[in-house]
Amino acid sequence: MSAIDKPQMAAMAASESYARHQLPSNAHPVPDRRGANFYDTDPTFKALLQLYLPGDLFQHLQPHLSRMGELAGGRLDELALIADRNPPELEMRTRAGEDRQRIIKHPAYEEMERVAYGEFGLQAISHRDDMLGWSGKMPALVKYALTYLFVQAEFGLCCPLSMTDSLTRTLKKFGEPGLIEKYLPQLLSLDWDEQAQGAMFMTEQAAGSDISNTQTVATAQADGTFRITGDKWFCSNPDAEFAMVLAHVEGDPAGMKGISLFLLPRTLDDGSTNSYRIIRLKEKMGTRSMASGEIRLDGATAYLVGERGRGFVQIADMVNNSRLSNGVRSSGMMRRAVAEAEFVAHERIAFGKRLEDMPLMQRQLDKLRVPAEQARSMVLQTAQTLARSDAGDKDAYALLRILTPMIKFRACRDARKVTGDAMEVRGGCGYIEEWSDPRLVRDAHLGSIWEGTSNIVALDVFRAIKREGSLPVLNTYLHGLLADAPGIPAGFAKALKAALQNASALAERAAEHKTEVLARQAASGLYHCTSAIAMAWEASKMQDAARMRLAQLVLVNRVLPRDPLSASASDIPADWN
Ligand SMILES: Cc1cc2nc3c(=O)[nH]c(=O)nc-3n(C[C@H](O)[C@H](O)[C@H](O)COP(=O)(O)OP(=O)(O)OC[C@H]3O[C@@H](n4cnc5c(N)ncnc54)[C@H](O)[C@@H]3O)c2cc1C
Repeated sequence: MSAIDKPQMAAMAASESYARHQLPSNAHPVPDRRGANFYDTDPTFKALLQLYLPGDLFQHLQPHLSRMGELAGGRLDELALIADRNPPELEMRTRAGEDRQRIIKHPAYEEMERVAYGEFGLQAISHRDDMLGWSGKMPALVKYALTYLFVQAEFGLCCPLSMTDSLTRTLKKFGEPGLIEKYLPQLLSLDWDEQAQGAMFMTEQAAGSDISNTQTVATAQADGTFRITGDKWFCSNPDAEFAMVLAHVEGDPAGMKGISLFLLPRTLDDGSTNSYRIIRLKEKMGTRSMASGEIRLDGATAYLVGERGRGFVQIADMVNNSRLSNGVRSSGMMRRAVAEAEFVAHERIAFGKRLEDMPLMQRQLDKLRVPAEQARSMVLQTAQTLARSDAGDKDAYALLRILTPMIKFRACRDARKVTGDAMEVRGGCGYIEEWSDPRLVRDAHLGSIWEGTSNIVALDVFRAIKREGSLPVLNTYLHGLLADAPGIPAGFAKALKAALQNASALAERAAEHKTEVLARQAASGLYHCTSAIAMAWEASKMQDAARMRLAQLVLVNRVLPRDPLSASASDIPADWN
């Protein structure tokens, strides 16, 4: 028997193990990021905004962005969790038996509404010139930057918010002056009691992706209004004060040419409720805080918007705006997932080490960061293009037409994977509903279904190539970015150009020959090359070596062929540096 007895050995082993697993003095074994300011703790976002926004506006916005970051990481996050657990309910009658429908939203949801619509006026930023203490119109990027922070806490509410903004845009663009004058003030009001929200009722049981099959009928009235009858199958924010509705005008040709766009007010001029009913609310996998329902229109009064028979073309503007907004939201959700994963990896100790110091975890974190940063750059680029397009730049319009379905397609799909994989970084807690991960995973799955499924938006990339001539415009634009970025190492710049050429050739051939089966592959290829070039340009401007490396990983991980059995430790070719 040695000099050390058994109990002594056990005590020594315990103390050794304790020393090995000792935590930093301020850490808790289960790290919790609650209360972090999502803007102040994201220096890359700040640097990117500085690059993309005019200097004076960037400075002016700092307190607003910081406030939104604080709310998103604090109060909004708490409220989002409560609202997710307490979905809205449909009340059919008043307690006195009056047939008056009402959607009862949880107070937590209403408090979030007040932040989004009231304090920040996100629905009105693009339409007013007196927002957030700034005099003059702010570029769309401001709205998207704030939404990017807001959505890191709450996703469901962003749908009505975006529909209100998009409905206002469509009304202003195509509505009769009298209609605009009558309803715009309510949509743009910042007074909570006056403020009206928007919705979009397109989808029917037989008409989802295929709008030409719309069965809802609009009948012209002698006074110039229409009566609308039919069933709408998916209606988010169904109690909104205004909705844009698609219907087939009685007597007009069958198919797309007979479909027109209408504005449907919930309240008529005499104060009575318009003739439509919410049949029931859907029980959804995600966006549980926000109501989505089914609506039966029973001769409801509506106003024609724009040209009769051009309903689909006109609502496409609203849909495209919503598609871009979906890209922004998916990008924000990926950022949240990555930031949580990075925090956990920094704080959590296993086997005596921080998770972030483990090579296999480092590789996983990079795999999360790459798609999240791609989407972020695509948001910034697309928002900037939208501003130029709205100012009348024709090339910017063609560019916007291809960037929008690209971001809707790829960013929304990536968000599914990134949120799921980030959940795993938190270990078992990631699967528990009191953390943000399960909500993010559930919500992230919706982005690629609504506002056009993945197949439909990938096919829209082809449409942009064929109808708008978007591909040469995209190429010219991207070559311009490369020429404006001397900091991109020569070998990497060459690889980017070659990849863009190949992606463009594939997309052009596939679009030309209508090889639909390649639509998703072609859309992904263009997205990866566009985002890699945008990230490399940003990295060059910001002198940010870490971002340049992520841009390189886009090509390595997502574009170039790889040998799955190669044992190379470094992914990035030596001649790219
Ligand atoms: C929570 C939620 C809220 C919603 N809110 C609204 C709302 O507010 N307003 C509104 O109008 N709608 C809303 N929608 C409806 C949504 O936009 C549609 O569900 C979506 O556009 C798909 O239509 P669908 O369900 O009819 O599916 P379908 O169109 O039948 O599609 C089924 C499958 O077929 C594929 N497909 C269809 N056509 C093609 C093709 N040409 N090539 C290859 N594949 C194809 C699709 O990609 C999809 O995978 C909502 C949906 C959900 C889930």
